Amino acid sequence: MVRMSGVQKWFGDLHVLQDIDFEVATGEVVVVIGPSGSGKSTLCRAINRLEPINEGTIEIDGVPLPEEGKALAKLRAEVGMVFQSFNLFSHKTVLENVTLGPIKVLGKSKAEAEQRGHELLERVGVGDQAGKLPAQLSGGQQQRVAIARALAMDPKVMLFDEPTSALDPEMISEVLETMVDLARRGMTMVVVTHEMGFARTAADRVVFMADGRIVEQNTPDEFFTNPQSDRAKDFLGKIL
Ligand code: ATP
Ligand code: MG
Repeated sequence: MVRMSGVQKWFGDLHVLQDIDFEVATGEVVVVIGPSGSGKSTLCRAINRLEPINEGTIEIDGVPLPEEGKALAKLRAEVGMVFQSFNLFSHKTVLENVTLGPIKVLGKSKAEAEQRGHELLERVGVGDQAGKLPAQLSGGQQQRVAIARALAMDPKVMLFDEPTSALDPEMISEVLETMVDLARRGMTMVVVTHEMGFARTAADRVVFMADGRIVEQNTPDEFFTNPQSDRAKDFLGKIL
């Protein structure tokens, strides 16, 4: 589904992605962890070309990432992204937030987009909030709307970059439950998170990054009980 080969990325002199070979199979849930500054967000952003790379190739479903124009817009529609900050359109209602993309980009009728929008809002547990503005919702509710908005585009893969780190503790679990549900439904997912409980329950594979490299990757069971590299042992020692 996603294949990165020999990817290099520099910010000036800083080599932030080094020799990245990274694959995600259809239906697979991959959790990316690692110290701050290790390149996790840059990796995510590279997958839908929010961040251009300097070398290497990235393919989605066997198709190389387009450089620009309509083809890039189409690809972005296929890759759903959920960030730490919810980035909802603040002057639009919750329902409008989830129908705007399908109407404008996918060319759906308003009725069709609204029917699907209501379905998705229901699924993430905010069905009764459709007419409100984002500011009238809790952070956890807003993040679930952001997930519904991404799903409304029928993405092939969903990228999550620390989706719960801006949330109050009591709201974290409701967002994680939504993500676990999505994983169970077979969505292909790349999730950057510090929530090791989520990694253990939902991940097929954990990828550990340090200093712009993928240092090791394994099943959650293997990775958490038997990390191979000193970097991973050190990291786990600090967070577990
Ligand atoms: P965190 O856990 O703190 O979110 P991260 O693993 O997501 O960290 P990245 O945000 O990918 O790390 O950043 C990797 C490195 O690239 C860091 O050293 C960061 O300072 C640097 N960096 C990120 N974005 C830019 C930018 N736009 N310009 C220059 N340097 C950047
Ligand atoms: Mg980050």
